[in-house]
Amino acid sequence: MHVIFLGPPGAGKGTQAKILAKKLNIPHLSTGEILRIMSSKNNYIGKSLKDIIKKGLLVSDELITTVVRERILLEDCQHGFILDGFPRTLIQAKNLEDILKKQNIKINTVIKIDVNENILIQRISGRQVCKKCNKIYNKYFNPFPKNGCIDCGEKNIIIRSDDNENAFKKVRLKKYNEETKPLVEYYDKKNNLVRFDGSGSATEIAEKIIKTIKSI
Ligand code: ADP
Repeated sequence: MHVIFLGPPGAGKGTQAKILAKKLNIPHLSTGEILRIMSSKNNYIGKSLKDIIKKGLLVSDELITTVVRERILLEDCQHGFILDGFPRTLIQAKNLEDILKKQNIKINTVIKIDVNENILIQRISGRQVCKKCNKIYNKYFNPFPKNGCIDCGEKNIIIRSDDNENAFKKVRLKKYNEETKPLVEYYDKKNNLVRFDGSGSATEIAEKIIKTIKSI
């Protein structure tokens, strides 16, 4: 099964992609997570990535396409994968198509998660990420437990450098509307886009997504 998650920052793509990956036993490929790991290195690339991510800007199509191409050719992706955060521009979508064509792979479904802007702001400004397993919590609605992460027991969290209202409203949401939103129409025309209301609880949304995937 090959799945793409689409939706604005804060829509819950990461949370849902993780649940689905576990259920289907295929890897969850989050370009944001991959880039955050690359940016933690204290070298030239690490430092420039850190700066781009913090500002909410996008890294170049060329770089991210190379990263994704190398990742999906690894052994663990042979039965499928879930893409979260890629493609994010029309150029990336076309690059992905070329890569997949060469591998004889077809995307089974594109899951689009819709959430209104006010909820997105609350989710982004309250987001807490488990330092070890990246499970997502929120200080307003689902705070990180005092005795540690419910999945892995880790006691520490990370607050993402780009999770501030300024970078979110002025840059990330704008970038999403200008560069990523056109992909909704792009995949809709290919007839494999399914929309989900992402404003409910993570478990409810996951159940709906899994039901849809089972029917494909
Ligand atoms: P979100 O979707 O919540 O904004 P992600 O964790 O997916 O966050 O990505 C974090 C950052 O990593 C982005 O703001 C961007 O700087 C970079 N990034 C992730 N995926 C891509 C991509 N496909 N193309 C360009 N930049 C990307």
